[in-house]
Amino acid sequence: MTPKLARFIDSGVLATPAIVIDLDRIAANFGALREALPDAAIYYAVKANPAAPVLDRLLGLGSRFDAASIEEIRACLAVGAAPSAISFGNTVKKSSAIAEAFASGVDLFAFDSDEELAKIAAAAPGAKVYCRLAVSQDGADWPLSRKFGTTGAHARDLLITARDLGLIPHGVSFHVGSQQTGVGAYQTAIGQAAMVFSDLRARGIDLRLLNLGGGFPTRYRDDIPAIGTFGDAIMTSVRAHFGNDLPDLLIEPGRAVVADAGVAVTEVVLACTRREDSDRRWVYLDIGRFGGLAETEGEAIKYAITAPGLTGPDAPAILAGPSCDGVDVMYRDTPYHLPASLKSGDRILIHDTGAYVTSYASQGFNGFLPPQEHYL
Ligand SMILES: *Cc1c(COP(=O)(O)O)cnc(C)c1O
Repeated sequence: MTPKLARFIDSGVLATPAIVIDLDRIAANFGALREALPDAAIYYAVKANPAAPVLDRLLGLGSRFDAASIEEIRACLAVGAAPSAISFGNTVKKSSAIAEAFASGVDLFAFDSDEELAKIAAAAPGAKVYCRLAVSQDGADWPLSRKFGTTGAHARDLLITARDLGLIPHGVSFHVGSQQTGVGAYQTAIGQAAMVFSDLRARGIDLRLLNLGGGFPTRYRDDIPAIGTFGDAIMTSVRAHFGNDLPDLLIEPGRAVVADAGVAVTEVVLACTRREDSDRRWVYLDIGRFGGLAETEGEAIKYAITAPGLTGPDAPAILAGPSCDGVDVMYRDTPYHLPASLKSGDRILIHDTGAYVTSYASQGFNGFLPPQEHYL
């Protein structure tokens, strides 16, 4: 937690649940990514945290934006982003959204199917398009499943079709899965993308864009490789495959920009023992799976959790949310320890909750309001 966050949390009575975000940390993270990959344009993945203060700060630093819906595009335009600095990166888009984006000046669109390509050709004639490849997501704690992407051979055919439809076949993208903790997935994917480039060059199409996606990890409970490790491995791989004829590089980081800039301030609603779990207490917080901690599904993302001000020995705990839904349990299999003295009313901090929390929170399930957001 940054000193600015700690001061703010200590300084007053904060209604909980709350998410407090340090915008300076976001700026520092953006700078670190730029330093790690100076040859890549950074398109912040808006879905990680779409709040206006975040977009505004990033815009001021020269960020571009990867948007998944017309609402996210409007949010970027509203803070003053140039349409040419926005990529419509979802391969699944309403025709009306494509048309509105194109009319606003957005001219870069993702796709991975014939059918989506036809929609783009109709609603955004002459636009630049890039095809998403399906790549291995081994090493990712939060994979994006098989919902997106296609094979290299199909991508090649689709990009030829794009040209025939009057679109500009601009490049290739992939996403190696979120919270990707290894560099190998990037290296393999870059090799796959390079084959599409060379296949198409042989057919008279010069692709320009290599979109490396997001996936860069943040440190939760476990150590991760430094961001420079990813930058070095990616550039070594790009040079090995493309030589001196480097494509335009683009990254779409979300988590690595905002996650460690945020902390959730929550209150213990109940700490109790249950007969069937006599070895551990159940600790119910005023935030849960529906309050924004959706990435605790399958206990995939393991947040660091602390109880500030409490001393004494720790005891094992099961952590759950406040709602009446049985799936609203964050950690049951993953060992968590909290002070044995913990009781109802105590404060709990859930660290590194700046990404994929506010944007996942439900709008009042069981009447519980989403966490209040504070941007410092
Ligand atoms: C979610 C997403 C990102 C951001 O991924 P992170 O793992 O948060 O960096 C980037 N690109 C696309 C297409 C996405 O769907």
